[in-house]
Amino acid sequence: MRAAVIEGPGKVTVREVPEPEPAPDEVVIEVDSAGVCGTDLHLLRGELPYPYPITPGHEVVGTVVKVGRDVSSIEPGSRVTFDPNIPCGKCYFCRRMRFNHCLDWQGIGITREGGFAERVAVPGKVVYPVGDMPFERAVFAEPLACVVYGVLRADPKPGDRVLLFGAGPIGLLLLQVLKVAGATSVTVVEVREERLRLAEELGAERTVRAGHEEALREAPFGYDIVVDATGVPEVVSRCADFVTPGGKVLLFGVCPEGATVRLSPFQIYRRDITILGSFALNYTMDRALELLSSGSVRVEPLISHRFPLERFPEALELVGSDEPSLKVLVRP
Ligand SMILES: [Zn+2]
Ligand SMILES: [Zn+2]
Repeated sequence: MRAAVIEGPGKVTVREVPEPEPAPDEVVIEVDSAGVCGTDLHLLRGELPYPYPITPGHEVVGTVVKVGRDVSSIEPGSRVTFDPNIPCGKCYFCRRMRFNHCLDWQGIGITREGGFAERVAVPGKVVYPVGDMPFERAVFAEPLACVVYGVLRADPKPGDRVLLFGAGPIGLLLLQVLKVAGATSVTVVEVREERLRLAEELGAERTVRAGHEEALREAPFGYDIVVDATGVPEVVSRCADFVTPGGKVLLFGVCPEGATVRLSPFQIYRRDITILGSFALNYTMDRALELLSSGSVRVEPLISHRFPLERFPEALELVGSDEPSLKVLVRP
């Protein structure tokens, strides 16, 4: 079959690979679509400590075509997605239910073959049926599950006023989940005009063009929750300036490893500020699928491009460039 392969840092091809056969506890999924994400770029750039060659692709939907003999709960023909994270279940962190910090973790499309391919084999235990949901909606389950995990950590309350930096695909998901979870108003700051318009369409009470943050000072005492979805250290360093006494800052965007920011420990102390991180997801796929199937979170407007598998290198280049794009899907 055909698959995209990252052969080593900076080198990506689309070529013939062996047909996947399911192990006794696995199923094989015929891929309909797979979403491109920042992690795929980190793999290409050699920034993750995992061996090559690897077929990336961890945001995947498709139809089950083969079922291993020990898998009883999934039938061929089922429309599914999967949680790409395979925790060991036995280590220190797994035993404390912090599965996203598993010490013996495997990731589909990261440490083992993923879904930018015609077919992919995955353990039955990480598969989630999507019913009759359109595939182009269900393909957002994994990134949305990461967002749900972050929002559960930030824990917005009725009446909360939220400030969100960044309206890329993840920022636009955060905006919607924050509101479903109870935030009463969300103000979005973003560089690109067309993304601000989309944020308004998806429920932002207020949008502010980046660089015009003086408008944000009008809020009387700052925001209850400030969220960074840019991963830009200069933006992160200013988040605490906008948070209200007793409020929280959620760092969701991925800053470059090794980046540092200046923070005032006195202000953190004096203003009772809580700073939260959020890494990957922790059994939040089911909640994400509920948000998608109910229509509480709208994702179709976030799809900007669709590429056939053979043009995967181009799709990856687009996501890594300054060209305007939101979610880029690859379809074998
Ligand atoms: Zn991802
Ligand atoms: Zn573990």
